[in-house]
Amino acid sequence: MTAPAESDDATHVVPVVCNHDCGGRCRLEAHVRGGRVVRITTDESPDLADRPQLRACLRGRAIGSRLNDPNRLLYPMKRVGARGEGRFERVSWDEAIDLVTSRLQRAVKTYGPGSVFIHHGNGDEGAISGVAAARRLMNLMGGHLAYYNSYTSACLNYTAPFITGRRDTSSYQTLPHSKLIVLNGFNPAETIFETNSCHYLARAKDAGAKVIVIDPRLTETAATFADEWLPLKPTTDVALFVAMAHVIVTEGLQDQAFLDTFCIGFDERHMPDGVPEGLSFRSYVLGAADGTPKTPEWAAPITGIDAATIRRVAIDYATHKPAQLLQGCGPQRHAYGEQSVRAGITLACMTGNLGRLGGGWGGGEGGRSLGLPIGGFPTGTNGVKARIPVFLWTDAVVRGTEMTERDGVKDGPLESNIKFIFNIAGNTLVNQHADINRTVAILRDERLVEFIVVSDQLLTPSARFADVLLPADHSLERNDLGSPWTGERYVVFGNKVVEPPGECCHEYWWLSRVAERLGLEPAFTEGKTREDWLRQIVAEARAGDASFPDYDELRSQGLYRKTPEPYVAFEKEIADPAHHPFATPSGRIEIFSKTLYDMQHPEIPGVPSYLAAWEGPEADLVGRYPLQCIGPHAKTRINSTYDENGWMEEAEPRTMWISRQDAAARHIADGDTVNVFNDRGALLARARVTRRMRPGVVSVPQGAWYTPDEHGVCHRGSVNILTSQRPTPLAHGNGQHTMLVDVRKA
Ligand code: SF4
Repeated sequence: MTAPAESDDATHVVPVVCNHDCGGRCRLEAHVRGGRVVRITTDESPDLADRPQLRACLRGRAIGSRLNDPNRLLYPMKRVGARGEGRFERVSWDEAIDLVTSRLQRAVKTYGPGSVFIHHGNGDEGAISGVAAARRLMNLMGGHLAYYNSYTSACLNYTAPFITGRRDTSSYQTLPHSKLIVLNGFNPAETIFETNSCHYLARAKDAGAKVIVIDPRLTETAATFADEWLPLKPTTDVALFVAMAHVIVTEGLQDQAFLDTFCIGFDERHMPDGVPEGLSFRSYVLGAADGTPKTPEWAAPITGIDAATIRRVAIDYATHKPAQLLQGCGPQRHAYGEQSVRAGITLACMTGNLGRLGGGWGGGEGGRSLGLPIGGFPTGTNGVKARIPVFLWTDAVVRGTEMTERDGVKDGPLESNIKFIFNIAGNTLVNQHADINRTVAILRDERLVEFIVVSDQLLTPSARFADVLLPADHSLERNDLGSPWTGERYVVFGNKVVEPPGECCHEYWWLSRVAERLGLEPAFTEGKTREDWLRQIVAEARAGDASFPDYDELRSQGLYRKTPEPYVAFEKEIADPAHHPFATPSGRIEIFSKTLYDMQHPEIPGVPSYLAAWEGPEADLVGRYPLQCIGPHAKTRINSTYDENGWMEEAEPRTMWISRQDAAARHIADGDTVNVFNDRGALLARARVTRRMRPGVVSVPQGAWYTPDEHGVCHRGSVNILTSQRPTPLAHGNGQHTMLVDVRKA
């Protein structure tokens, strides 16, 4: 299938894919006429209970308006003003590639390949991304400074293995088997995560499941699915969970046989050797060690949830089996996000839910990958072994060679501070990283990062900091493949439907030209075009699955799909522990982790514990900044993608939610422009005064593009002007939802 010709007046309907940074992969159909995409529709195949449609959300349906955005970058440019000013002049591709090549050579020769950082760039999640291509090139040059973790789920990924040996979550197909579902900071009605997350949630409701939503906002998920909404104070979910544990223990509702068989550290009878008495989870909950029983009455003022409700919810949770406790990514993007993960898993163990159909604990975007065996683009071996937690990249710019294991550096030390950055299809360079004012001050100092190359479709806040700015193609301007992160088993083919405008191209093309100048082109391309690599990926999939279509069949069908069985996390370990021990030092679920205890770190306790957040409701700073602020995902954006899109602005204008009480105390009316501020910065937002927000908390959806005025106040309301770069203690992840602010009428 080729792109319809410009002169062709007929409308062609062509299968394409939404490859945004969302766990789903939805089917789209591009209606193409005269060389332009004139309409986008989505999956109209039969909608079956076990094979639901792969229907797109409003973001996927707006893909055409992004494609046709009149502000698309069309030509290579180089910076002419100060870095960050956003002033560029057009150059030829040859000049741009020469400049990138010479500065890359200089960085590698002067500081070593470990001075080159390929930034977090999730704007393009196709099978062959520009980030993957840059990694391949750098690995041929000796390597690059790599990172671990993500901004999405650092605490989830890093912490769960200490407890259960790996992070694992049952697939959403198991939800209809649940009697009770607790959603902690999880809002799939807006964030989606997986194309059919809400389909399975709805089926669970139809089958009679009770749903409890814990969230300071009455989200659309809470409004649609919740039987009960618990509007707790952000950062206090662990206090709620340990108080629930107190009720379960004192009522004798725990599944003692499960705990005795599969866990260590729940009680004093099952502790690892070499640990003093009184440090089990039960002892912590009952207050044996610190004299403070973690009763519902103890938790009520911390969480803002009354004791009777905590007691009732705990009993409901312990007596409705199977029960699933699912947490979104928000609760672990807090000061001590690690503890949310540990406490959630512990509750699932106390109630014997782990490893059982319809039960368990889940974190983040749902189940593990059940994906079809489609490979990716081979990136080679990184010769630079040191890695940093991604959230500390600004520290690696300023003091990389001084960073140690305490900063989360693995296989260090770093050979250099970061001197050269590839920023491809990413807005984390400025917009999505915390504390924008600190970030831009670092990036403006050309003695630190000496060169930044950016490839993108639009002049994002990050792209404004480019030294060379390259125009990227759009996913509808190339062939590509998409498969979901988790839970489902399918591959969507995304057809090229139109030619790229101007001189836009995929990064593989210009990185091949850089490789050519470095004498590495034969090794980089192996004589293959990007299309050849796609064909190779499909051929490899066919080698492992005889029913997988060949490239041209897949291209014309647009989809290859298998219906998966519900996946139950840790099913084997629970069914047959003798042959399938947990991949922990003890072979059991480590409610008490000796590995963590031995760190002897006051913020990394041996058992899941409530720790008051540094900018939480119990912090001294509340006197100056009395409101907690969270930055949830908006349904109109995938992180910052689509913030510039007029359709999305119309669908849901950007607002800051504030309770009626907090608004009244500040004489703020619905629709007023307000200034939200703390010591790190300030932004303007339109107030939405609503009873859907818990008093004491405001929400500023993350992803708005940083647009400062002459005083540095962000007029579009980018929440990261307020967030902190302080990492979480164990995972070194982003606690970006932990911040205190105040609000006044602008
Ligand atoms: S953003 Fe996610 S849910 Fe929405 S259409 Fe794209 S893949 Fe589907």
